[in-house]
Amino acid sequence: MRIALFGDIHANLEALNAVIEDATSQGCEQRVCLGDIVGYNANPGECLELIKSMECPSVKGNHDEDASGDHSLKSMNPIAATALEWTRDQLSEEQRQWLRSLRMVRQVSDFTIVHSTLDQPQVWGYVTNKFDAMSNFSYQFTDICFHGHTHVPRVFVRGTKVREEAAELVEIEKNLKYFVNIGSVGQPRDGDPRACYVIYDTGKKLIHFRRVEYDLATTQQKILNAGLPSRLAERLPEGR
Ligand code: ZN
Repeated sequence: MRIALFGDIHANLEALNAVIEDATSQGCEQRVCLGDIVGYNANPGECLELIKSMECPSVKGNHDEDASGDHSLKSMNPIAATALEWTRDQLSEEQRQWLRSLRMVRQVSDFTIVHSTLDQPQVWGYVTNKFDAMSNFSYQFTDICFHGHTHVPRVFVRGTKVREEAAELVEIEKNLKYFVNIGSVGQPRDGDPRACYVIYDTGKKLIHFRRVEYDLATTQQKILNAGLPSRLAERLPEGR
């Protein structure tokens, strides 16, 4: 079976639609969402309803938590906080409740999904190198765990040591563990503005990173029309 895994959508409906279309054309039969459905961009309700309608297994991201709570956002980056305050106003109570109901960690098929890390998922730590990845592996009981959060596609592999592999086509080998960052649909930060997601082929044991072009100009215009910070529109073509 081919499974499409996507996350860090961040209310970017054009990117999400492009990814779903690509996944369908690639023969994916199942979809899995790794959280941060909302935040930053201008279509939080629409993205949430689309994910909900697909009934795909999903986990909670930090922006899903912040958008569905009433706590102070003062300690956050001001641009992210402004977008989250706006997002809180856009979502219905039912939509906020749906976000609150998402779990932090799930097992799907033969793999695990989490937004940040398995060691302390509620702390929302960033895994940017193999040393950060080591603590995750201590809590990873499946061969593969998919995550997101940094918006940078990355592959960490644990054999006798932890190493990093190129985030391209990954062949799953026996007796190794894989902690795979699937990148971001709606706000990539690896310098490539195209939407990023992953296809896991469970039969062939292959993980394939996909990059998909989308109508970025429309997403930017929606951000500006909504009165969201203009930096959120400017960063999209930079892939930062
Ligand atoms: Zn995110």
